[in-house]
Amino acid sequence: MVLRMSRLLLTTLRDDPADAETTSHKLLVRAGYVRRSSAGVWSWLPLGKRVLDNVSRIVREEMDAIGGQEVLLPALLPRAAYEATGRAAEYGDLLFRLKDRKGTDYVLGPTHEEIFTQLVKDQVTSYKDLPVILYQIQTKYRDEARPRSGVLRGREFLMKDAYSFDTTDEGLAEAYRLHREAYRRIFQRLGLDFRIVSAVSGAMGGSASEEFLAPAAAGEDTFADCPACGYAANTEAVTFTAPAAPADAGPDPVLQELDTPGTPTIETLAAHLGVPASATLKNLLVTIDGELTAVGVPGDRDVDLGKLAEHLAPAVVALATAEDFAARPDLVRGYVGPQGLGIRYFADPRVAPGTGWITGANKPGRHAAGVVCGRDFTVDRYLDVVTVRPGDPCPRCGAGLRLDRAIEIGHIFQLGRKYADAFRLDVLGRDGKPVRVTMGSYGIGVSRAVAALAEQTADARGLCWPAEVAPADVHVIAAGKAAQTELAALAVDALHTAGRRVLYDDRPGVSPGVKFTDAELLGVPVLLTAGRRAPEGVVELRDRRTGAREELPLAAALARLTG
Ligand code: ATP
Ligand code: MG
Repeated sequence: MVLRMSRLLLTTLRDDPADAETTSHKLLVRAGYVRRSSAGVWSWLPLGKRVLDNVSRIVREEMDAIGGQEVLLPALLPRAAYEATGRAAEYGDLLFRLKDRKGTDYVLGPTHEEIFTQLVKDQVTSYKDLPVILYQIQTKYRDEARPRSGVLRGREFLMKDAYSFDTTDEGLAEAYRLHREAYRRIFQRLGLDFRIVSAVSGAMGGSASEEFLAPAAAGEDTFADCPACGYAANTEAVTFTAPAAPADAGPDPVLQELDTPGTPTIETLAAHLGVPASATLKNLLVTIDGELTAVGVPGDRDVDLGKLAEHLAPAVVALATAEDFAARPDLVRGYVGPQGLGIRYFADPRVAPGTGWITGANKPGRHAAGVVCGRDFTVDRYLDVVTVRPGDPCPRCGAGLRLDRAIEIGHIFQLGRKYADAFRLDVLGRDGKPVRVTMGSYGIGVSRAVAALAEQTADARGLCWPAEVAPADVHVIAAGKAAQTELAALAVDALHTAGRRVLYDDRPGVSPGVKFTDAELLGVPVLLTAGRRAPEGVVELRDRRTGAREELPLAAALARLTG
């Protein structure tokens, strides 16, 4: 393969796109790999398509190696299937919905558990046909609320989704293990730095699940990691054991109301009263399947909405809106307290019976002190919902946890029988009786992996691809003069004949300086330049990552690159 830049559909940009915040977004656009079509919807241009295809190829090879069978299902799917499992409601606005000309409801597939379950029900009748692993590499659609960060979070994106079908729990455990190993190999080959962490299952349902996270500042996930015992989990999945209730807090404090004008936040309140935030009780109003509920946590803590949603799944959890408050004048925004509250009250276990708090007085500008749990208010349900902080105790060994940002690049689930139950997916068992099938589902963000790689490998000068995913093996630069072009052409031919993928900067009238800057931006691992010493047959080899350079005769350079 030889890509000639004189003919390549490629425009590199000197400046970052105005709306870009993350490195991958900036560089993939500047290097002409992708181009924005609409919010969260991207076109892949020639170089980008090559990287995307390389990622797909590696994924495909490793999925085939564990016996996965590749299929391609539609993206346009009947909504009824997602109604049958309740996921249409769970996904809510995330789901792209449409109707055909007859008025039948469709969705654009966000992930395909339902459709694969139906396919297997239609195709498989006996335990003898199982286990089976099916996968596809396909475009998915999710109407993400914040489609920022370029292809890291698209509304249309490429996913590898795989599904395993077994008759026994042991079979499912084995399919899960196979995928976990395949994923390790895939991400190793891609050259990604990754961690495997415990995860929550979210809208997918089911029990055991782990995420593959690529540590990166641009990541939207946070994971906790224990330096002492190696425990690692998405912060949404970190569970605390309830702290013991205080042994004896002394005589019960007297409940008193305080005048605290202009203190709608914990910070303003704590400053006004001169108390630590941990002495106050923060009450967050949410709706759970539409029902207003207050959630109480110590004032120095935050509510992790992901954790809350996970506890209450499949119920839909959302922050209370201005309209919700408008409909309930008794709920005073910024001054809510659990005492005498006319709605459900959930709380963190730290809000234990007998503990006393400073909290809202349910009157504008007023708070109450000495509000005692069990005496002045009751908790309808205790839930572990606080956001994890650095230094919080590791649930396994108690040492202080570290927190890091990361990009979720893969997610594997032991679904169990949730989807098989919804569609009554049974096969004939060994004893002639029907057995319910058990399933796993396994996703990789293929387009996201390209961005994650860019995040982890780019430097100040541009992209810097690992060899297996790079759009070419060698970037050949002809500095401009006749002798240089001649030598470069020789190099290109020889590399091509040896099966190397070559990106050839043969653009006439472009200065060597511009060619170098572009080469560094594009990020092909090796640069071969026919420059100053071309008349003697000497070229320069440069390692894009380390910057190390060496001048050597063309034959020696070719031997190095094709050996
Ligand atoms: P996130 O928490 O980032 O929204 P998710 O947990 O909803 O992702 P899954 O349903 O687990 O995603 O999908 C499997 C994989 O697909 C994810 O691990 C991720 O790599 C990828 N993915 C999910 N949403 C997007 C998106 N909007 N753009 C690109 N890739 C995505
Ligand atoms: Mg996930």
